[in-house]
Amino acid sequence: MNKGKLIVFSAPSGSGKTTIVKHLLGQEDLNLEFSISAASRAPRGEEVHGKDYYFISLEEFKKHIKAEDFLEWEEVYRDNFYGTLKSEIERIWALGKNVIFDIDVAGGLRIKHKFPEQTLAVFVKPPSVDELKRRLKERSTESEDKINMRIAKASVELATAPQFDVIIKNYDLPVALEEAHQLVKEFVSK
Ligand code: 5GP
Repeated sequence: MNKGKLIVFSAPSGSGKTTIVKHLLGQEDLNLEFSISAASRAPRGEEVHGKDYYFISLEEFKKHIKAEDFLEWEEVYRDNFYGTLKSEIERIWALGKNVIFDIDVAGGLRIKHKFPEQTLAVFVKPPSVDELKRRLKERSTESEDKINMRIAKASVELATAPQFDVIIKNYDLPVALEEAHQLVKEFVSK
């Protein structure tokens, strides 16, 4: 099988990593394809099954765990399971493309440990926890309770930043986008 590169973007929810990943997917020179994760939560806003996530039931998710179909999976928030199916990576490598992931820090580090040479693990750092809170509220796609759950997790996630290959500070979006493009370009051309 063609073994392309693995580009992991991890960060606390609201850091802007999804925006960065979407931007990179539009850059043809990087030859990237998005790793569509399986998720047990319901679609949010405009999200589409088979594009943003494979939305599956909790029961179905647990069946995949048992069958060892996942490269990695996490119960990111209580009863909200997310995971990367092994078949997803195989699908993308078969296309001759590099894989880009938008996943939580634990999952990101797990992929880095499984494929140390092939993976570039990037941590996206938000300006502050207060700014994260503001962004999540502004997005207003989640309830107050869910926002608080995400904020509580953010401090723990921020502490894992030094374990990543690189940290991108997302203080000014255009600067972060350019930095991300350059970093990934250098890594995929190696
Ligand atoms: P959201 O509900 O905001 O889409 O995602 C919640 C968190 O789960 C985010 O940090 C997202 O990156 C992470 N996530 C999405 N897919 C996966 C996955 O396949 N594995 C892991 N470990 N985390 C994921």
